[in-house]
Amino acid sequence: MKTKYHYLKSFCLLLTWFLSQAVSTQALATEALPSCRLLIAKQLFDGVNYPQANMAVLIEGNKVKQVGTPESLRGQCRNRINLGDATIMPGFIESHAHVTFQNVRKDTVLEHGITTVQDTGGPLHPKEGGQGKLRLLSTGPIIQAVGGYPLNIFTPDDTVGGLAKVGISVATTAEAELVVQQLVDGGATAIKIALEPGGEIGAPWMQPHGDHPVPPAPWSILPKEIVQAIVNKAHKLGKRVIAHVGEQDGFDRALAAGVDELAHMPCGEISDTSLQAAVNAGITFVTTIDTLASCAPTGLHSNTFKLGLFGANFIYGSEVAHDNVPWGINAEEMHMMLHLTHGADAINFDDVINVFKSVTSKAGKRLGVHPLLGTLAPGAPADIIAVRGNPFERFKILEYPDLVMSGGRVIVNKF
Ligand SMILES: [Zn+2]
Repeated sequence: MKTKYHYLKSFCLLLTWFLSQAVSTQALATEALPSCRLLIAKQLFDGVNYPQANMAVLIEGNKVKQVGTPESLRGQCRNRINLGDATIMPGFIESHAHVTFQNVRKDTVLEHGITTVQDTGGPLHPKEGGQGKLRLLSTGPIIQAVGGYPLNIFTPDDTVGGLAKVGISVATTAEAELVVQQLVDGGATAIKIALEPGGEIGAPWMQPHGDHPVPPAPWSILPKEIVQAIVNKAHKLGKRVIAHVGEQDGFDRALAAGVDELAHMPCGEISDTSLQAAVNAGITFVTTIDTLASCAPTGLHSNTFKLGLFGANFIYGSEVAHDNVPWGINAEEMHMMLHLTHGADAINFDDVINVFKSVTSKAGKRLGVHPLLGTLAPGAPADIIAVRGNPFERFKILEYPDLVMSGGRVIVNKF
């Protein structure tokens, strides 16, 4: 009897020790990295293929090791999280943000499902995060014309600040080439230029920022030879060029110089000829439709719909840090993309999946961080989100993820 009691007491002590370890593991969840973890859920989207039912993801360290049925991964890892009726997806990628410039908390963005952000305008900084912190890439300041946008709106005195501001003005091709070199040397993952003469009614850049009024349009924009010099230099250094354009002249200037990407849907009306030529040239279009909601539909919506008809390549972008969009996943942006970019036929499930690809695998491929970023393929960074229910039927639930992982580290876990 005494022996039995002794064993029982030892067992209880052991149990208490195990429980205390479990509690401390929980407390350190965002810092400690277990050797393996198995996530199991009713549905999984790997960033590329149609969602699959009843799947599991095996994570080893900071990478995805394997994806398969729970049965096929049985016995490979005792550290399991069963997500029940949830959907597992890659962490979402925001391709147009100003997190650093607007001092938005990075953990807030990460907790709301965005695991990677491309800042497109703001102080230059090298790549950071990805291992339990928001992965943040930077273009540094936007290269612009002297006296032009964006410094004319945000910080009219453009004589101080160098690469720490939202824009940097250049007056000659030599200056422009030097700035591109400095940006790339400082860790810029792409080069952004502004070709914005102003005047588009309803555009965010036509609203006052701070206590200075919006200067009368037209604003000066970079001459053609400087734009060309920037594009040539950036391409020589292996970087893509993203252009902010809002109307016809800037659009055509970006197109003629061979830029790779437009940072927004243009707010003003663009001719069919130019839209078709941009699609033919292989330009990628980042959307940011939601934040531009006050632009006239004859410009913003019509441009987007026509680009969809012409077969354009769209990438999700929402302008995280603007005050009229969520600082995380933006369901309304996805909704607008679905309704405006699906092309001639009626919306079908392929169109829904295309929107999800544009914020995961398609976005990840462009950033040049890791070839599998934005997917759940073996070897991909373990940046993972999950939501209870079916996000393909209801985008809104994506804004409140029930699980967020960054580089294998749990950031949010409501299971
Ligand atoms: Zn922006």
